[in-house]
Amino acid sequence: MCLFCKIRDGQIPAKVVHRDEQCLAFEDINPQAPTHVLIIPNKHIATVSELVPEDREVVGQLFLTAAKIARERGIADTGYRVVMNTGDNAGQTVFHIHLHLLGGRPMHWPPG
Ligand code: 5GP
Repeated sequence: MCLFCKIRDGQIPAKVVHRDEQCLAFEDINPQAPTHVLIIPNKHIATVSELVPEDREVVGQLFLTAAKIARERGIADTGYRVVMNTGDNAGQTVFHIHLHLLGGRPMHWPPG
């Protein structure tokens, strides 16, 4: 079972900030900004490249959850970044898709 499936199932502890039928959000273990939350689908999907049409709703739920958490953290007005690294060249290290929600400081563009 992959690392994030184990977090989903409670086999590995995490600071969970949101849970529903479709997704789970928890604090990144190595935060890169004052807010750094990972939002994952409960369904194991390795990369964006493996998404199928049936995943439309869950992908939408990832973004809705990011926006909700951003509002709760008070970063919706100042701005934040949501990013999903896909594959080795993008720096994906955990092969269970996850939306990074980063905020609380100015972000640079382009990312490295
Ligand atoms: P990626 O590089 O795949 O886009 O992002 C993986 C993220 O997962 C990284 O930001 C990393 O800090 C985080 N991460 C890796 N292992 C763990 C863990 O065991 N627990 C938590 N909460 N985050 C993790």
